[in-house]
Amino acid sequence: MPHLKLFLVKQMTFTSFSLDDLLLKAIKASSYNEPTEIQKQSIPLILAKHDVMARAQTGTGKTAAFALPILQNYITSSSSERVLKTLVLTPTRELAQQVYKSFCQYGQYTSIKTGIVYGGVSTKTQIQELKAGIDILIATPGRLLDLLHTKSVKLDKIEVLVFDEADRMLDMGFKDEIDRISQHLPEHKQTLLFSATFADEIYQMSKKILINPKIVEIDEKNKAADDVEQIVYGVDADRKRELTSYLIGSKNWKQVLVFTRTKQCADELAKEMTKDGVKSVAIHGDKSQGAREKALLEFKEGKVRALIATDVAARGIDIKGLSHVINYELPYNAEDYIHRIGRTARAGNSGLAISLVSTDEEWLLTAIEELLDTKLLQQWLPGYEPDPTKVSASEKRPISKKKARKNALSQGDKVRSKKRTSRSRRR
Ligand code: AMP
Repeated sequence: MPHLKLFLVKQMTFTSFSLDDLLLKAIKASSYNEPTEIQKQSIPLILAKHDVMARAQTGTGKTAAFALPILQNYITSSSSERVLKTLVLTPTRELAQQVYKSFCQYGQYTSIKTGIVYGGVSTKTQIQELKAGIDILIATPGRLLDLLHTKSVKLDKIEVLVFDEADRMLDMGFKDEIDRISQHLPEHKQTLLFSATFADEIYQMSKKILINPKIVEIDEKNKAADDVEQIVYGVDADRKRELTSYLIGSKNWKQVLVFTRTKQCADELAKEMTKDGVKSVAIHGDKSQGAREKALLEFKEGKVRALIATDVAARGIDIKGLSHVINYELPYNAEDYIHRIGRTARAGNSGLAISLVSTDEEWLLTAIEELLDTKLLQQWLPGYEPDPTKVSASEKRPISKKKARKNALSQGDKVRSKKRTSRSRRR
């Protein structure tokens, strides 16, 4: 990583950025007292129109880190004409909605108009919105390409291009889509790349799309993990559901995000837990957009206690004050563990992440421990101790890690084709 540079953390408040009063008013209305690390470092660079490559986890305030300076640069340019000048690409609809809401929130006192397009819903209202005129567009790659194909949107005046969660975009196989979208964009523009990791693929991508980028890398890699209390319970695979319902019920947790590796498991678990008396709903890539939104709303409103999600479906979900995450199954990609537990302990809150680990998942726990550089001590909950006389199917016929990943690829949401990062490979 030759062009990596660490920026010193300065003491700053939002007023130190010389942001317009209209934005400061929105920041105040959002109850943000001081900028987060990623904001402190990225906002001045983006205001100065640099290309930026920033490593930041979801939950660190990265959306405001690019949204605020983009909005400020609109205000400074003082052009009254409504022209689409900013494009933000996100890997999932949920993240697109989240980013859209943030732009609307931070720009609520300005006349800057943000639009959003994503798949899974009719194009009609999206086309109408585009026709009516917008300044900023948040888009998922597939739907944007559809709209480019029908000439419903033009990107020839784009001045700022943002890749949000670029690593996830590549993992989800959007490389070709990105290349095709790039052909519609002007050569000269400011490009901002936000990614949770700086894996090799991201460096390759950055070389192609960024010009003399400023690198922002705060030492937040394991930040989510630091703020979250992590508990690991060893338990037999066939008793995990019972234990999950028991934990939620006995501790009276009101809002728990439960992660599974596959869609099938998410569906089954939601059904069974509801039968156990813990009202649950599943959210994954096979659900329609309407069903996903309904599930999220019911969860946010407290109508269901457990949201059972796959990794891809959970990206971009921002649930204020979420305090409990349960890893019903450990992820095949250790970095997904950090994303998962980072759903809680957002913006300075604390959280609890419980992982239920059966004997056949111990190699996954080891990979997570290596990534975190921490030993996660396994505990046994009385009444749920693993039965040493029980031999799991996978212990009888151990499957290779490669096969396990292949299984995950065929069963899970559209997940990364390269399951481990360069860092975990190096270990
Ligand atoms: P993000 O990483 O952009 O998904 O943001 C995570 C959460 O942090 C969101 O709920 C934001 O509203 C919140 N947030 C962003 N910036 C700040 C800040 N400076 N102070 C407090 N909360 C913030």
